[in-house]
Amino acid sequence: MAPLDVQQYDYIVLGGGSGGSGSGRRAAGWYGAKTLIVESGRSGGTCVNVGCVPKKMTWNFASITEALDAGRHYGYDIPEKISVNYRHFKELRDATVKRLNGIYERNWGNEGIDLTHGRARFVEPKVIEVELPDGTKTRYTAPHILIATGGRPLLPPVKGAEHGITSDGFFEIEELPPKVAVVGAGYIAVELAGVMATVGVETHMLIRGNTFLRKFDTMIQDTMTERYEAVGVKIHKQHPGIKEVQLLRDGKGKDKLLKLICNDGTEMEVNELLWAIGRAPEIEDLNLEIPGVTLNKGNHIAVDEYQNTNVEGIYALGDVTGHAELTPVAIAAGRQLGNRLFGGEQFKTSKLSYENIPTVVFSHPEVGTVGLTEAEARARYGDDNIKIYRTRFTAMYYDVMPAEEKKKNPTQFKLICAGPEEKVVGLHILGLGVGEMLQGFGVAVKMGATKKDFDSCVAIHPTSSEELVTLR
Ligand SMILES: Cc1cc2nc3c(=O)[nH]c(=O)nc-3n(C[C@H](O)[C@H](O)[C@H](O)COP(=O)(O)OP(=O)(O)OC[C@H]3O[C@@H](n4cnc5c(N)ncnc54)[C@H](O)[C@@H]3O)c2cc1C
Repeated sequence: MAPLDVQQYDYIVLGGGSGGSGSGRRAAGWYGAKTLIVESGRSGGTCVNVGCVPKKMTWNFASITEALDAGRHYGYDIPEKISVNYRHFKELRDATVKRLNGIYERNWGNEGIDLTHGRARFVEPKVIEVELPDGTKTRYTAPHILIATGGRPLLPPVKGAEHGITSDGFFEIEELPPKVAVVGAGYIAVELAGVMATVGVETHMLIRGNTFLRKFDTMIQDTMTERYEAVGVKIHKQHPGIKEVQLLRDGKGKDKLLKLICNDGTEMEVNELLWAIGRAPEIEDLNLEIPGVTLNKGNHIAVDEYQNTNVEGIYALGDVTGHAELTPVAIAAGRQLGNRLFGGEQFKTSKLSYENIPTVVFSHPEVGTVGLTEAEARARYGDDNIKIYRTRFTAMYYDVMPAEEKKKNPTQFKLICAGPEEKVVGLHILGLGVGEMLQGFGVAVKMGATKKDFDSCVAIHPTSSEELVTLR
């Protein structure tokens, strides 16, 4: 029995990020479950504060530079050198994030959800203790407890690594560094390197292999790596890694100076170092050993397809589980769990399908992908059962540019079809505007569309997307 001073809820959600908010709102707003959200940081979690939202705003900011450049080719009289007030942009971005923090909290309030700001940890198998900012402690219990505590960016075990920043620190920069080194080859490294390079920062990417975006189809890896190089990003392939980081000069922007000493003895001076080497689940201080929640090999919380942990009444979803670490995935999994726990008999088997999740990389240009890569499709269906359709062209937008410029702006599509009916099992696209193009094709792939279905859809002319329904 829990002690009497423990406050009772139907549903306790640890973490007010994408997944926790999605689940809590479904439970309380739709089904009237008495719900508590415990949030130790800023409401809205990673996506709102240091992820998708400020990232996309920064991508928009950088895309304006590209539009100005195109404008010159179209005959606009735009001076070569245009000053940019990054600090002003950052203030606008911060204000947007703050507004969203408020919207999240208002939505929770409107749906009758209680919010406690503090750090949660288990003190008994079904009892949570939260330390409030003033040091007081409160305890809560519920038959259903969701762990949606997300993750945090990693720093490597390198001497002086703390002199660099992670993606969290990137969003605090008020003055862009003139020269930056970005370590990592995942989508966060590619996106943040992309925005900095686009707005004129001398950008060095340090990658272990020969291409970045290694989890994506080879078409995307190869073309995007080439494209980044073509527009001036300095990609250090087969990089041996950094041994030590020395802070030569403390400061902001150009006033900060770091020396990177690499494992092969070479050295490099930069104004900022961005580590984008991966993320770890945020579980350390939860005391998961008290309820006995088990972890998988990557230290993520192990869950089944219904988001159940091994302990009855304790669930996990979103980044803390390491499955498809994307905001809409966490939200959708959270809503399905809310349905299953509180929605009655008709939702007893509700769960999220993790198949065919469309995703976009906000690189320059954007990348979109849904389904299997070519290598995955060949492994799953066998070479003889796979047919690949592809095209590479330059979008009409770039027609006014000289050939050299046009070459730097490819659009490329790849459709991977399986079986005699040519079911589309993978779709990979890169180029201008593909971020907005992907969602509709995602629906088609999810519905099991075949190549014939694609062909039967009348093209929209003149667009880049028409090429996807006329592939031969
Ligand atoms: C730079 C960057 C760019 C991204 N861009 C995109 C994108 O474009 N599109 C996309 O879909 N996804 C993107 N993501 C991923 C996306 O942000 C995450 O997948 C998503 O936020 C995961 O949601 P979550 O609910 O699992 O965790 P989070 O959103 O991280 O929420 C977890 C919350 O739990 C809180 N918390 C942690 N521990 C405790 C505790 N002990 N007690 C109380 N509260 C706690 C944290 O403060 C946090 O608010 C990006 C991520 C990053 C880092």
